[in-house]
Amino acid sequence: MIEIENIQKSFGTLKVLDGVSMTVNKREVLSVIGGSGSGKSTMLMCINGLEPIQNGRVLVDGTDVHAPGTDLNRLRQKIGIVFQQWNAFPHLSVLENVTLALRKVLKKRRDEAEEIAVKQLTHVGLGDKLTVYPSRLSGGQQQRMAIARALAMSPDYMLFDKVTSALDPQLVGEVLDTMRMLSHEGMTMIVVTHEIPFAREVSDRVAFFRNGKIHEIGPPEQVIGSPQMPETAAFLKSVL
Ligand code: ADP
Ligand code: MG
Repeated sequence: MIEIENIQKSFGTLKVLDGVSMTVNKREVLSVIGGSGSGKSTMLMCINGLEPIQNGRVLVDGTDVHAPGTDLNRLRQKIGIVFQQWNAFPHLSVLENVTLALRKVLKKRRDEAEEIAVKQLTHVGLGDKLTVYPSRLSGGQQQRMAIARALAMSPDYMLFDKVTSALDPQLVGEVLDTMRMLSHEGMTMIVVTHEIPFAREVSDRVAFFRNGKIHEIGPPEQVIGSPQMPETAAFLKSVL
């Protein structure tokens, strides 16, 4: 499980996370919503140790992410992360892009790495695109490749940061379908998204971020269906 305890994070004098605390349990799907600049992406970076924090703690399965001596490479293998855009290596095929970290980081043999990559690419519906170059994929297929690449490392957690926001509207559904499938399989997920109906459908809980704080958190029926805070309601109105 992921335990976030009162984290404070600033960039210079700009306070970006101002005492965020929450727990994400195994098999839980937590969606994070909130306006631009509210700290959503920064929080994901702090969870896998890509950004240091000034105060508080993040524990992943009990390991203190920011403690000196924590093996961040090992920790990050547990936590897959998919961004709005992933720049795949253009000169490598889809299959080679997905096997790369398996071979370089996990030191798998080529045949082992390929077996895992084929399995994950097939799982996200790209089993027929193995030998294609990334530039020949649609935006939705590229995002599914990025998901397959993360899954290939056998993560226990998946973090998604607005993975559909750069896509043409007709391509959003296929990526959300892939994420929905993972949630049904029991993957533990933190999903930063502006896809409110999707968040409402798949999430166990939804957190609304505002000014670096969790302004409201609860089940989707509350936070999205019947928000307790006027700012949550105003935000939802602005994106729906
Ligand atoms: P969100 O994902 O909710 O839009 P971010 O976490 O990306 O918000 O950013 C929160 C604030 O931190 C913003 O004001 C942003 O400009 C600032 N910020 C993010 N990353 C950096 C950085 N590396 N250096 C300086 N400021 C940053
Ligand atoms: Mg962001």
